[in-house]
Amino acid sequence: MAKLINKTKLVVDALTNSPFVGHLNCGSCNGCDIEIVAALTPRFDIERFGAVLQGTPRHCDVLLCTGPGTRQMEPRIRRLFEQMPEPKFIVAVGSCASTGHIYQETYSTCGKLDNILPVTAYIPGCPPRPEAIIDGVVKLITLARQGAKATEEEED
Ligand code: SF4
Repeated sequence: MAKLINKTKLVVDALTNSPFVGHLNCGSCNGCDIEIVAALTPRFDIERFGAVLQGTPRHCDVLLCTGPGTRQMEPRIRRLFEQMPEPKFIVAVGSCASTGHIYQETYSTCGKLDNILPVTAYIPGCPPRPEAIIDGVVKLITLARQGAKATEEEED
């Protein structure tokens, strides 16, 4: 008899062994975005940890978001988030995305990213170094793996 495959476990295993990441500029000055690009390219090489850049949110497990979330971008940010498959994680990269930073009380932004999206992890810095971005993603993967293991043990 064919062994039943635990679909959730399969998804979590795939996600934590090789998360598909996307990058979304939610109104940043481009400083954080340049650091994300550096983290993805061979010098810092986030692919060492299995993370692979994707071109569409429909293929992303993790979305690296920069900027405080401008009012103009808000509906698009929400729509892109809805397009991501479950389970999905939003990472706020940089101080603007994490806290609003200098844009906190400006009329044209939503203040900070978690006023728009459910943010899972915050990587502060203006901008954060590529090592910090990689560290944040690796910690997120580790936590997701531990969370899945704990849920599995509870179910047994
Ligand atoms: S945190 Fe700094 S580098 Fe990043 S988007 Fe804001 S102002 Fe630019």
